[in-house]
Amino acid sequence: MKILLVGAGLSGAVIGRQLAEAGHDCRIIDSRPHIGGNCHTERDPETGVLLHLYGPHIFHTDDEGVWDYVNRFAEFVPFQNRVKTTSQGAVYSLPVNLHTINQFFGKTLRPDEARAFIESRADRSIAEPQSFEEQALRFVGPELYEAFFKGYTEKQWGCSPRELPASILKRLPLRFNYDDNYFFHRFQGMPRAGYTAMVAAILDHPRISVELETPYRPEMAAQADHLFWSGPLDGFFDYSLGRLGYRTLDFERFTYQGDYQGCAVMNYGDRDVPWTRITEHKHFSPWESHEGSTCYREYSRAAGPGDIPYYPIRLVEEKSLLAQYVELAQAQKAVTFVGRLGTYRYLDMDVTIREALDTAGVFLGAEKAGEAIPAFVMPPL
Ligand SMILES: Cc1cc2nc3c(=O)[nH]c(=O)nc-3n(C[C@H](O)[C@H](O)[C@H](O)COP(=O)(O)OP(=O)(O)OC[C@H]3O[C@@H](n4cnc5c(N)ncnc54)[C@H](O)[C@@H]3O)c2cc1C
Repeated sequence: MKILLVGAGLSGAVIGRQLAEAGHDCRIIDSRPHIGGNCHTERDPETGVLLHLYGPHIFHTDDEGVWDYVNRFAEFVPFQNRVKTTSQGAVYSLPVNLHTINQFFGKTLRPDEARAFIESRADRSIAEPQSFEEQALRFVGPELYEAFFKGYTEKQWGCSPRELPASILKRLPLRFNYDDNYFFHRFQGMPRAGYTAMVAAILDHPRISVELETPYRPEMAAQADHLFWSGPLDGFFDYSLGRLGYRTLDFERFTYQGDYQGCAVMNYGDRDVPWTRITEHKHFSPWESHEGSTCYREYSRAAGPGDIPYYPIRLVEEKSLLAQYVELAQAQKAVTFVGRLGTYRYLDMDVTIREALDTAGVFLGAEKAGEAIPAFVMPPL
């Protein structure tokens, strides 16, 4: 079959590769001048540092199949994300752990003592937390909430934590040991040559052709037997019902001679500092050495038309609009909506790859059985 895939990010690349290996011809287009989607990495011509252009990406997963898959296409170097935060005039370790708690309260508590201490600060009068704020007060108490959750969340989401659902803060966000590895997953690493090189290797197949700086035009679909869409779901319908809400990010680049902050990610918890964090990209490739350094100050705001959609908002209002778009999508023939934008969900890279592999499997199974291919293999709602 002739397959058209819109988007040369992980979703388009992995689905394209699976279908190409099964004998289908895959044409992959992307409106950007590079492959890799939001995981794109490139060298800074000024400092030589490998930059994560759309924000830092750390690969982490418990899915052994996905780990084996990415290791087929790239050499991974072990990497653990250790984030710091500047708050109320001091630097602390994140996620909030025993070190953070002892430093913040000026104590020398052991794990059980810290647990009891935090329980004594928590607001136990909140039986069923309704908002993010209530959930945080119930779990961590007012002091840690103010220092580590409130300001950052306000900046990240552009609203009061009182307006956000409790579900955003699902589990107890504290650790009662000194583990400061940001992720829990078994496999964690960075591709030595960057994500774009990994995606290039995935796309390197004689049945795959890639066209960059090529935005989708509806007449392209007529030349294909099936279309996989990893662009914005509402964008496919020309935003005819309105725009699904996203947060976008602005990155303010600056360079420094030497080591600017001594770590890859420094969050800023205080409300009066306008940026959410500073990322220093050479620390994402600690096996390299560079005299110069490239950093990004990161700001978050509501996405408007023309902005890059980063984080889907998915509150009540957006979900009702999403339901209408899902209905429109399901009425399409020979189109499958995939990936973070096509299904309007936040997806880590490992989940994106798992879903892409499964989607390709469903496609190949349905095609063999002569069945219709669904509009969504992963339901957005
Ligand atoms: C700030 C940030 C940090 C992240 N950090 C991590 C991390 O540390 N670890 C992790 O596992 N995951 C991380 N992620 C998630 C990761 O970025 C996604 O899992 C991944 O990018 C999803 O790939 P995708 O192919 O679905 O989407 P994308 O990468 O967005 O690819 C979609 C592609 O479609 C193209 N496109 C859209 N519309 C059109 C059109 N009309 N015509 C042609 N082309 C079009 C776009 O240009 C884009 O290249 C992060 C995400 C964000 C926002």
